Amino acid sequence: EAKAAGRSTWQFYASEMNERIVNRRKIETDLRNALRGGELFLQYQPRYTISRQTVSGAEALVRWQHPTRGLLMPDSFIAIAEETGLIIALSDWVLHNACTAASQWPDDLQVSVNLSPVEFQRGDLVARVRHALEATQLAPGRLELEITETVMLKDSVAALQIMLQLKRLGVRLSMDDFGTGYSALSYLRTYPFDAIKIDRSFIADLQGDAKTTAVAIIESIIGLGRALSMTVTAEGVESASQLSDLARIHCDEAQGYYLGRPHSLEQFERLITSASLARP
Ligand code: C2E
Ligand code: MG
Ligand code: MG
Ligand code: MG
Repeated sequence: EAKAAGRSTWQFYASEMNERIVNRRKIETDLRNALRGGELFLQYQPRYTISRQTVSGAEALVRWQHPTRGLLMPDSFIAIAEETGLIIALSDWVLHNACTAASQWPDDLQVSVNLSPVEFQRGDLVARVRHALEATQLAPGRLELEITETVMLKDSVAALQIMLQLKRLGVRLSMDDFGTGYSALSYLRTYPFDAIKIDRSFIADLQGDAKTTAVAIIESIIGLGRALSMTVTAEGVESASQLSDLARIHCDEAQGYYLGRPHSLEQFERLITSASLARP
């Protein structure tokens, strides 16, 4: 009897695994089509300079309008794109579109693009970024590349070399989701970051019992950013009280649903040309 149970458990896992493999294959094929067929699009989430209450730029976030599955968010397909290597083509598409969009905005607005750790391991990231800038004629200083800690974890020496080359192109580098990993502090010392994006879990803690601790942590990150001449952005600002806490402790920038959800390009461009741009 135990044997039978063991076998059926095994069969259960095997069929579940098959299903996952088939599912991944399907998404992979679909993603290849999506890259050709205009199913991907970008949304732009505004970033604000807190002291001036003006828009400083936007983060480009990829979405996939799948023909049968509906709207897919990056968390449901980036990992598969990474496993299959399609991330390079996807990211090229994102870079070109985001740089093209930003080249139409006022000169003081930046665009941020998220990079995958895989891009530091495969293909020539520096050449790809240079090409996107040349093709779109965007001033390099207006492109910010968002990098998470995983990049430094994978191969820290190679990552540093690539980041230094990216800096030579003139682009900005920011450390995304700061505070969620293990060695964020030592990375800030070693790698040429221009900006820190405080992970939204710390901002969420501004609401609730852990508030005093959250304020202390955020203040110390802001102090660190100031000492290292880095811009500090708070992610995931969802309320007026979070924004006023951040203003009080002199955080540079804020991004989040309270200030603006990710918008279509048209909506974002309306936002930056409207007279009400000064106030969220
Ligand atoms: P991220 O870079 O940390 O992006 C911020 C995420 O937080 C976005 O989710 C955004 O919509 C969401 N967000 C913004 N404000 C708020 C808020 O006030 N509250 C809450 N709860 N969430 C907020 P999204 O668009 O689903 O992106 C998820 C992740 O997918 C991104 O995290 C980024 O790591 C990745 N991603 C997005 N676009 C790309 C891309 O083009 N390339 C690569 N490699 N990764 C991307
Ligand atoms: Mg990001
Ligand atoms: Mg982030
Ligand atoms: Mg993230």
